[in-house]
Amino acid sequence: MPPIPDVLVIGGGAVGASCARALAVAGAAVTLIDRPGAAGEAWRASAGMLAAQIDAGPDDPVLELALAGREFFAGHASELGRTTGIDIGFMPSGILQVVRREADVAAIKERVAWQRQQALRANWLDGDDVFDGWPWLGPCLGAFWSPEDGAVDPENLVAAFLSDATRLGARVVADTIVGLDHDGKQLRGVIGERQRYTAGTVVIAAGAWSGRLQSLPRPLSVEPVRGQMMAFPWPAGARPAIVYGEGCYLLQRGAEMLVGATVEHAGFDASVTATGLADLHDRASVVYPALAAMQPLRAWAGLRPVTPDGLPIVGAEPRLPGLWYATGHGRNGILLSGITGELIARGVCGASVTEELDPFRPTRFWDW
Ligand SMILES: Cc1cc2nc3c(=O)[nH]c(=O)nc-3n(C[C@H](O)[C@H](O)[C@H](O)COP(=O)(O)OP(=O)(O)OC[C@H]3O[C@@H](n4cnc5c(N)ncnc54)[C@H](O)[C@@H]3O)c2cc1C
Repeated sequence: MPPIPDVLVIGGGAVGASCARALAVAGAAVTLIDRPGAAGEAWRASAGMLAAQIDAGPDDPVLELALAGREFFAGHASELGRTTGIDIGFMPSGILQVVRREADVAAIKERVAWQRQQALRANWLDGDDVFDGWPWLGPCLGAFWSPEDGAVDPENLVAAFLSDATRLGARVVADTIVGLDHDGKQLRGVIGERQRYTAGTVVIAAGAWSGRLQSLPRPLSVEPVRGQMMAFPWPAGARPAIVYGEGCYLLQRGAEMLVGATVEHAGFDASVTATGLADLHDRASVVYPALAAMQPLRAWAGLRPVTPDGLPIVGAEPRLPGLWYATGHGRNGILLSGITGELIARGVCGASVTEELDPFRPTRFWDW
């Protein structure tokens, strides 16, 4: 194995913080640089669901990674709690997707069948079963039930990754990185608004802002997709749950019900809008009718880093040795954060990860 390099990680969201932690676990000298202030970062807005199976069907290139991503939390939630004292809110409650239209039943049952053929736990629940388990929901024909999916609390997760990384020697710096520092052949580090940072290995994990860095060796196909969210009180006495339906989802976090999320191309504008929230409220009220009469406790929005094919960009840049990408995780960046950090750490430390990362290779959009 080659010597473990010094590494700069750009971005301290879910993915950057996880990369920093995994690299520090591997023994690298890590500096994580995160922009100060808040400007719509996805991790601050995220619902934090570990929805590995919710859309999974044949030819899903992300399923294997998603299952490994979910497995990461089952294995690391209590360990992170022990080493950092931070509870990441791991909630393996299962995810229910209610079906209200006869036309959708066959497709959902097919999904259940296919997933079971892959040895995944999934089930079709009839309307009566749904009523027995989740009596507060509106009427439905049945539901897709994936008992091993769940959620974590994304803000606590990022805090725990960062805390564990610093415990292992990583340095966390507040600065906004403007661009890469290289001569076309050799990577020297990055240039921040406050200072230059020197290292031969750089991991770009700046979420929706990744493509805005200057002097990238090729354009990065990552664009911001806004998600608006709102919170209501969690129904008294109802057990923790995560429910999808009507193009939205509801989940328990503490005393609140989080309701999300819009999917909007609004540039880098991370504000909430009256129309976006009204649409979300209407949809969620079909799933949980009592919501119609309730006022939200609060609302917020964040920017998902999304690629044209919906898959993340994870891997080494062939044109500039030492440069790695860990970005474009779209709506699954919390689910995929832990496993992305592990793969990046293995790759940076010299192991071959080419096969695992092939569907996510950075060269798939731009070869000029
Ligand atoms: C409303 C909403 C709901 C979501 N729900 C889920 C969900 O249920 N499950 C799930 O898995 N995913 C969910 N996601 C997606 C998930 O939150 C993202 O995929 C994930 O947070 C991406 O992580 P990231 O670290 O790449 O980007 P971010 O979380 O956006 O973090 C990027 C970081 O980089 C920093 N940065 C940016 N530019 C610079 C710079 N120039 N210099 C230094 N630092 C910089 C930012 O300050 C930020 O801290 C949701 C997203 C949204 C918006």
